[in-house]
Amino acid sequence: MSTPADPSKAPIGSLRTLWPFVRRHKGLFVAWLVALACSSTATLSFPMATRVVIDQGFAAGGAGIDRAFMLLFVAAFALALSTAARFFFVSLLGERVVADLRERLYTHLLALDAGFHDRTRSGELVSRLTADAELLRSVVGSTMSIALRSAITVIGSIVMLFVTSPYLAAYALVGIPLAVLPIVIGGRRLKKISRASQDRIADANTLAAETLGAIRTVQSHAREPYEHGRFTAALQTAVRTARKRIGAQSIVTAVVITIVFGAITLVLWSGAHDVVAGHMTAGTLGQFVLYALIGGGSIGALAEVWNEVQRAAGGMGRISELLQETPAIRAPVAPQPLPSPLRGEITFDNVTFHYPQRPDQAALADFNLRVRPGETVALVGPSGAGKSTVFSLLLRFHDPDAGRVGVDDTDIRTLDPAILREAIALVPQQPTIFATTARENIRYGRLEADAGQIEAAVRAAHAADFIGALPDGLDTELGERGARLSGGQQQRIAIARALLKDAPILLLDEATSALDAQSERAVQQALETLMEGRTSIVIAHRLATVLKADRIVVMDHGRVVAEGTHEQLLAQGGLYAELARLQFLD
Ligand code: ADP
Repeated sequence: MSTPADPSKAPIGSLRTLWPFVRRHKGLFVAWLVALACSSTATLSFPMATRVVIDQGFAAGGAGIDRAFMLLFVAAFALALSTAARFFFVSLLGERVVADLRERLYTHLLALDAGFHDRTRSGELVSRLTADAELLRSVVGSTMSIALRSAITVIGSIVMLFVTSPYLAAYALVGIPLAVLPIVIGGRRLKKISRASQDRIADANTLAAETLGAIRTVQSHAREPYEHGRFTAALQTAVRTARKRIGAQSIVTAVVITIVFGAITLVLWSGAHDVVAGHMTAGTLGQFVLYALIGGGSIGALAEVWNEVQRAAGGMGRISELLQETPAIRAPVAPQPLPSPLRGEITFDNVTFHYPQRPDQAALADFNLRVRPGETVALVGPSGAGKSTVFSLLLRFHDPDAGRVGVDDTDIRTLDPAILREAIALVPQQPTIFATTARENIRYGRLEADAGQIEAAVRAAHAADFIGALPDGLDTELGERGARLSGGQQQRIAIARALLKDAPILLLDEATSALDAQSERAVQQALETLMEGRTSIVIAHRLATVLKADRIVVMDHGRVVAEGTHEQLLAQGGLYAELARLQFLD
């Protein structure tokens, strides 16, 4: 990832990247500002109303009491209404902004290339989408609001303090810079701790996601206590880091409140003497006290939310980093159209490729392969020979370092990857089954397929029998990762999906795990139907598949080492004969 050396150095600035998302909801934003202006005005008019109550209500012998209290109530009512409106608008704004942000991030993550997803843990990405986004929701929906409101109230109170009593205000003002100092100093320290704290939470989340995702492996090893221990340790680290943040935050808050209210008390003490000496009315002192309290309280609120803002800035920083990540595989500016109809010829010309994480070792080295339209080629070779890499490059999950991969003589780099992938059906070794119904799982191959087409695919995939036996047939929920299906059944779902996709090129990674004889036959028949009339490359593990292929290509260390039919290759001896002896023959 393009992680800057220390992203916690510029966190507040990173909140700026939130602005485009806020700007999209101009109406809400403006409504919030208007409500904010009203509520601040109401808050600031309170002390004045109080002075009128004290000086004209009490002092004038009670004549003005009714009018004065009326005024007080009107101020309170205005405050109530505008506060409600402010809360409504800003909370809704927060929800909308964060929904937009998550959508944008999700779309972006979906578009990032295989290389990025190889080097980034998916749990970490989920944490960005949830924990960090959640933090921003609270910032936009409340913290930002409190911060701005407090700032306005502080400024308004200071102005009103001067209007009320310039000389007392001058006193009070000395206290304010004193209060700001610890906020700034504490804030610096908090920036660092905040980011660390969020990172530790993400660590714990990642761990949990990974473990729950592999629950069968965990339980089959009886590793629950071990996983429990790991998670507890991660949580403890998270709490320890959070404790540092909370501790620092508490100290800052205490120091600020002490300084602010210390200063206020001092000023009041002096003011009280003035009232006794007759230099000032009791109402004016009351008004002053209230302004000072409101202003002081707001400074305290600012100190508290400042830390929240820092935390959110850390979250936004990490989200921005992800948003700045550019996909390595992108459609060219003017992509070529795919030849139509596609004949399905595949060519690898002198292709050399290294995985970014393994720069020292070529996964494919000067690799050459030509598959004629409609031909079935079986790839065999020891594990690590580069067979799956052939698929990845053809699907353009990665670009070769040298050489050219072509489909119907068109370099696939000149195509839109989405269009290229539409033309290829992949049946992976371990099929992906989503936690939804059998129908939706099969429809994944072609979203617009109708019920008839789905049923036809099910029949052709020899899946009708077992799907018919499920409690709700095609509408049965398959459970997470197909937990309710056997291996052979999962494969037939994947085959039905590929049949529905009806792409001219088929990439099949044969399952290595042995199926029972009946499943095996059904899968083989389904595969035969699937391969019919398509250009197919099969990573083969079974003799039956190898025998049926038009040609067998033997790979080792990223190169083609031999080619021919089963008999030819057996007669040659060498790697193929060895593999055949180990894998296919008893
Ligand atoms: P096969 O499918 O024949 O078992 P692969 O194509 O999976 O072989 O792997 C070829 C080589 O590339 C191996 O050395 C493997 O370790 C390496 N490799 C495969 N996938 C990755 C990856 N995502 N990142 C780094 N190295 C990889």
